[in-house]
Order: sequence, then C-alpha cells, then structure tokens
Amino acid sequence: MEFMLTLRQRGITDKAVLRAMDDVRREHYVGDGFTPESYADRALPIACGQTISQPYVVAYMTEQLDVKPHHRVLEIGTGSGYQAAVLSRLAREVVSIERYRTLADAARKKLAADGYGNVEVMTGDGFAGAPDKAPFDRIIVTAAAEDVPPALAEQLGEGGVMILPVGPHDGVQHIVRVTKSETGLAREKLIPVRFVPMLPGQAREL
Ligand code: SAH
Repeated sequence: MEFMLTLRQRGITDKAVLRAMDDVRREHYVGDGFTPESYADRALPIACGQTISQPYVVAYMTEQLDVKPHHRVLEIGTGSGYQAAVLSRLAREVVSIERYRTLADAARKKLAADGYGNVEVMTGDGFAGAPDKAPFDRIIVTAAAEDVPPALAEQLGEGGVMILPVGPHDGVQHIVRVTKSETGLAREKLIPVRFVPMLPGQAREL
C-alpha cells in the first residue's frame, strides 16, 4: 500500500512503529468528507478548527519517542485520537489530554470502538499535564509551544523522553527531543515542522 511505502521511503524503519501505522485505520479519525484522502501523506482538517497530523510526522515523532511495551505515555493534544491510537499499539498505557471537550469526547468513542482499551482521554489543559498520574516514561506533545512546558518536564520520569514541536505560532517550529537523566534535562533539535498552536487553558467554546 502506498501509505506504508511513503513512510518507508521517507526513512521510518522501526518495525513496531510501522506495524502500528499499518494497523490503525486513519479513515476512522479524519474529519467528515475527507475519507478519500485518509491515506494521503498530509495533515487534514478535523472539528474545532484543528488538524489530524500528517502520517509521516506521526510516524517520525513516534519513532523518536522510542516507546517500549511497558511504558506509560502522556500525549498532549488528542485531536482526532489518531496519534493516541498509534501509541496504544506500542505502549502499556496512554493518557491523552485535549482542551476541546467535543474533540476529546469524539476521540474517546472512536478509540473505544476500535478496541484501543488502554487509552484514557481527558478534557483539560495540557500545560498542566496530569500530575496525579505522573511520572510518565514518555511524553509527546502534538501542538506547538513556544518553549518546553515546565509542568511536563516535571512529570517526565528519570530516563524519560519527551518529543514536542517548539517554536513561534506563526513561524518555523522544530521537533525537539527532551531527555531526563540524573544530571538534568538535555535538549536536541530535530526536524522543522508546522503544528497548530498549543493554547493555554481548557477551551471555553465546545
Ligand atoms: N494528535 C492529534 C493532533 C491534533 S492537533 C491527532 O492525531 O489528531 C493538536 C491538538 O492539540 C488540537 O486538537 C488542539 O485543540 C490541542 N491543544 C492545543 N493546546 C492544548 C492544550 N493546552 N491542552 C490540550 N490540548 C491542546
């Protein structure tokens, strides 16, 4: 299938990640009316003016996250639930936070319908993370922040990895890898990307 070929051609090699990308039916997560484009390698609109990320970027960030089967993963920005579905195939447990209740409710239903029972979707502010469920082995943020949110760095366990887009809302953002060790946090800048902004607080509109 062309979808998988594109991911391989663009350099995704991790077998577990490729298997997860192959497993999850992206057409269940794209917005109404976009079904024919489900397997094109591009971001597509979903409700609340948000987007489902480009498959290559989902695969790339997931590969960089280096998820192991025993890991507990925190995702910020549930959106369609697609990234959470992919993570559910790789991790023991996924907690995903979305600021729009409408998106969180829709994603929760889809993930349950697809049998991805190890994902918990919550409505809330991702800048606060989920302190009552911390520490996390892995954290992935799928909206662009101007800098690494301190609460998320705090909730990363020792030996943990966080992958997130960092940069101005209207300029060039980069995927950044943050690793936490006993000596502190280390940062590494990866590829340039374009994400919707990470906005403070739970959305007031639905
Ligand atoms: N991972 C998603 C990508 C959705 S786009 C997917 O696979 O479809 C990013 C999402 O982040 C949007 O739905 C947006 O509402 C959400 N978001 C932005 N700021 C947030 C915050 N502070 N807390 C939680 N979610 C946030």
